[in-house]
Amino acid sequence: MPEVQSAPSSIGVLTSGGDAAGMNAAVRAVVLTAAHHGIDVYAVHEAYHGLVTGGDLIRRMEPIDVEAILHQGGTVIGTARSKQFRTREGRRSAARNLVEHGIDALVVIGGDGSLAGANLFRQEWSGLLAELVEAGDISQDLADEHPFLRLAGLVGSIDNDMAGTDMTVGADTALHRIIEALDALHSTAASHQRTFVVEVMGRNCGYLALMSSLATAASWVLIPERPPDEGWREQMCRDIKAGRSIGRRHSVVVVAEGAHDRDGNRITAEQVRALLQDELGEDVRITVLGHVQRGGAPSAFDRYLATHLGFLAVERLHADTPDAPAQLIGLRGNRVVASPLMECVERTQEVAKRMKSRDYAGAIQARGGYFAESCRVLDTIQQAAPRPAEAKRFRIAVVHAGGPAPGMNAAVRAAVRLGLDRGYTVLAVKNGFRGLGDGDIHEMDWMDVSGWVSDGGAEIGTNRYVPDSVGIARIAEQIAAHRIDGLIIAGGWAGYRAAHELYRHRHEYDALDIPLVCMPMTINNDVPASELSIGSDTALNSIVSDVDKIRQSAVATRRVFIVEVMGHDCGYLAFVSGLATGADRVYLPEDGITLNSLTTDVRALAERFRAGKRVGLIVRSEGSDRVYTTRFITALFDKEGAELFDAREEVLGYVQEGGDPSPFDRVQATIMTARCIGFLSEQLSSGGRAGAMLGFQSGELRFTDLAHYPTLIEDNAQRPVEQQWWDHRHLADVMRD
Ligand code: ADP
Repeated sequence: MPEVQSAPSSIGVLTSGGDAAGMNAAVRAVVLTAAHHGIDVYAVHEAYHGLVTGGDLIRRMEPIDVEAILHQGGTVIGTARSKQFRTREGRRSAARNLVEHGIDALVVIGGDGSLAGANLFRQEWSGLLAELVEAGDISQDLADEHPFLRLAGLVGSIDNDMAGTDMTVGADTALHRIIEALDALHSTAASHQRTFVVEVMGRNCGYLALMSSLATAASWVLIPERPPDEGWREQMCRDIKAGRSIGRRHSVVVVAEGAHDRDGNRITAEQVRALLQDELGEDVRITVLGHVQRGGAPSAFDRYLATHLGFLAVERLHADTPDAPAQLIGLRGNRVVASPLMECVERTQEVAKRMKSRDYAGAIQARGGYFAESCRVLDTIQQAAPRPAEAKRFRIAVVHAGGPAPGMNAAVRAAVRLGLDRGYTVLAVKNGFRGLGDGDIHEMDWMDVSGWVSDGGAEIGTNRYVPDSVGIARIAEQIAAHRIDGLIIAGGWAGYRAAHELYRHRHEYDALDIPLVCMPMTINNDVPASELSIGSDTALNSIVSDVDKIRQSAVATRRVFIVEVMGHDCGYLAFVSGLATGADRVYLPEDGITLNSLTTDVRALAERFRAGKRVGLIVRSEGSDRVYTTRFITALFDKEGAELFDAREEVLGYVQEGGDPSPFDRVQATIMTARCIGFLSEQLSSGGRAGAMLGFQSGELRFTDLAHYPTLIEDNAQRPVEQQWWDHRHLADVMRD
């Protein structure tokens, strides 16, 4: 037997099952990473149908072929269902087609069905080859050259219904589409005092329905994992009427495709509509979102996620031994990790079984992540009024600081509703810490925050003021005057600094000796104790959609765009948007810029234009270098590009701080606020006075003592000492077309 090679000969990549936005980004990442390692890649067009059929459906892919697919929805290499692949004969034919191309490693991007099929194929591989040899279809030598099939799976599915990954490729984009539709419906529904019933996708999984309800002002939601209680019809009508009576001008009921009652009988959008129409005595309309949810350009997150997953898939195929078990490459928290593929498929099927046997509590638990918590938070926020409270009426306040971050309004809305529901008085501080010192503090009511979840900007205002000693004294006075028992600081760099100042001075002023909690809200993602901050996802989507347009503007010219993005001293926005837009080069404050690197980059780019490149893209973080400004770099590239290309400067500016918050930012702002309220609640009821920073750490929401703040930030730069995304720095080098 010949020696087993340590790297795969060639890799095949296919997209299977329902199409999902971001699949192209994954294919691109597979092609570029393989090219980086000098491995050939073949695209298997039309999924397993192409694998079984072979011929022209299996084609070599070069980096140039994936140059312009990152921003495209759907899948350019096609997807199809294949009955033949379900048979051994079909899989034998597939094995033959692969070995004849020298392919003995596969990256399969699809749902649990596709991945289960791929795993079976891998297990049968040597048997299939033996049958092919015996039938005289392939030679023994060829079979010996490929003793194992290596397999890595990525989940491409809009449903987000797979174990082994917190997010599937395509789910975030689908949420974007749903939320755009729900936001639009809210405005028309409000104009006519109407009720809408909206059906969203999700036959077995309520993720899209649940999260889109949490991210909008939906009044009711029906999902498969949580069939409503027996008297649900009456309850829903009562709730909607109660909403009307407190001034809600419209109601939206979100129904997942697979919604059913406790006896397993389907609940359709039409049933809900008819019921509401009878009860409310008004026109109730249905909107079935359908395939719109699959379509459109992939979100920034899906592009980044798919890129990262595709990269790791090839890295694993490259590094693992050929007989290593198949891996599912997924996201856990903020980290891309590999887990045994078959275990993930089995766990996913287990959830389906639980649903079938009506073990709904088990199904929700098995969904993991924040599913159960999201259900609980949504239940409270959707109410028409707070529940009668037994707890002591603590007085808690919420304040913003730093630049505006999309999601701030969602946080205040959640603080008001979740606080009131616990029986607290909730105070909104206007205009940041300056407003706190000025006593610009207002008691909030349930309906004061109606509709805020979808609004960009910051209704209660924010600024970058950090109090000095005089300011601290004034703030202490106002905290005492308003009897504030606990404070939530939902903000960015200035907010954290201000919070720490209050914390530091708590020994001087009794009024400051109260529990404080910071939550990360800044587009820059530059605050400590959290790997991710709310607002940055919206900013990334804004950058990505602007860059898509900028690229399109260069149809008839050969051009390099130098795009400047925000971030102060933190390169996060530039790094992620660079990956999500397929930038040729990214300049970051963490690296700085040297004349040497500029010279190398302009030469490398010229080389690529000589080879046929038409549009170049450089993303420069605003704080990358004081001398080598965006203007300077543009002038340099323009001159050095000579006949090959011209260069144009694009400073994206404040659009990055504005816009309607993305689904992720709305949902996270809500969930994080719920945690902050929980924290204050615990502290207040136990007499605690801790100061804390809430953040994502290794995939979980954790609190860090505010006392550690100074040790977690750089001395001379506005960024944390540790930045998780920095670990993936090398991705930018591999992902250049
Ligand atoms: P998804 O991947 O989205 O779950 P499907 O379940 O329809 O979608 O599967 C897509 C394709 O994967 C099928 O058309 C079939 O070719 C293949 N497939 C699914 N399950 C199996 C299986 N158990 N054995 C072999 N092939 C399968």
